[in-house]
Amino acid sequence: MGPRMKPGVFVGYHLSSNSYRVATADGFIQKSRALQSRPQEDRWDAEAIKNIVSTPWSLRIQAGGQRAEVGPRVTPQPAVEREPVPMPRRLKITQKVLKDHGYTENCEQCTHIQSFGEGKPGLPHSEPCRKRIMEALAKTPEGTAKLNKHEQRSIAH
Ligand SMILES: [Zn+2]
Repeated sequence: MGPRMKPGVFVGYHLSSNSYRVATADGFIQKSRALQSRPQEDRWDAEAIKNIVSTPWSLRIQAGGQRAEVGPRVTPQPAVEREPVPMPRRLKITQKVLKDHGYTENCEQCTHIQSFGEGKPGLPHSEPCRKRIMEALAKTPEGTAKLNKHEQRSIAH
């Protein structure tokens, strides 16, 4: 079994590993324990030296930065308005609740109900009204049960 010999360009000798550094035909640097010199007349090969791609700080072949084709420039789309996160379904303040806990001053819906005997569709109770009603409900066992039931339904949905 003879040693496998490949053509290469001698680039140096590595003292600590006692091996030659040889640039092979693909431009990589390889270690070699043994060299066989070419005849004197064809020892210098400029093309082979030009093909060396390894450098002393990078013995591996480096792929150059390749320009990536990303297609034609597109006109940016206007930012999409994000849908607001839906509020958890709020407890409906029924007329029964209002009869039990009273109407709230300066609440449009309470005023409407007092005036017309029914709620105006789509008109919410004011925040202070809602807060007062929720607090009033929480003070009674019946109201607490109603709130808990609503909370469970809200989680389930
Ligand atoms: Zn109200």
